[in-house]
Amino acid sequence: MSQLAYRRVLLKLSGEALMGDEDYGIDPKMISRLAREVIEAQQAGAEIALVIGGGNIFRGAGLAAGGMDRVTGDQMGMLATVINALAMQDALEKLGAKCRVMSAIKINDVCEDYIRRRAVRHLEKGRITIFAAGTGNPFFTTDSGAALRAIEIGADLLLKATKVDGVYDKDPKKHKDAVRFEKLSYDEVIIRNLQVMDTAAFALCRDSDLPLRIFDMGQPGQLLKILHGDHIGTLVHG
Ligand code: UDP
Repeated sequence: MSQLAYRRVLLKLSGEALMGDEDYGIDPKMISRLAREVIEAQQAGAEIALVIGGGNIFRGAGLAAGGMDRVTGDQMGMLATVINALAMQDALEKLGAKCRVMSAIKINDVCEDYIRRRAVRHLEKGRITIFAAGTGNPFFTTDSGAALRAIEIGADLLLKATKVDGVYDKDPKKHKDAVRFEKLSYDEVIIRNLQVMDTAAFALCRDSDLPLRIFDMGQPGQLLKILHGDHIGTLVHG
């Protein structure tokens, strides 16, 4: 445990990370691979909390663009995150890990309600704890849910897994000369107008001085390396 650079972390995975090669929903191979990596990190001695988005199923903004009431759309999006959390719980348990799902909206026939003290207890007991339904409120995203929960549980680090291996000065898909930042302060992110997380999530991290690391989980093994202190991706700090 002592060799780890972080004791308690919260990992945010987008819903799309679960899709793998599929166009929609969940790819069983992909979720199983991600679960294996999370377990590896937990077995190394870290307490791991997870937040999973819902973009592989529904996003409120997308549904609203198609004519649906935005609040209803966001509620569907939050339920989508519960579906993903249950799928991850299943994948983790199949591999022998202990896991709990806690939801910000009451749905306690399928998972626990989110109660901060209970969440911390689960983590202390070595249970991988998945926070579902984001913040429980419409007009937010799971990035905000991840930042909020990370602060509440006293995480040492918020990890945001993306398809890009960090934060660049310009879009690396469009510009060959794009440069990746190893480290950025919160102020630099604002001054340079870089897109790291949505504004509400970013403000939460900044106000609570919560370090944030953005990295690509498409490459296996990165999570464990980060927990051992490797400088992978981009670190945003105070
Ligand atoms: N959502 C919400 N409140 C929250 C978190 C999520 O209303 O606190 C809804 C919102 O509609 C969002 C959807 O759930 O679009 C799925 O979450 P998100 O878009 O963050 O998923 P990701 O892009 O990470 O897969």
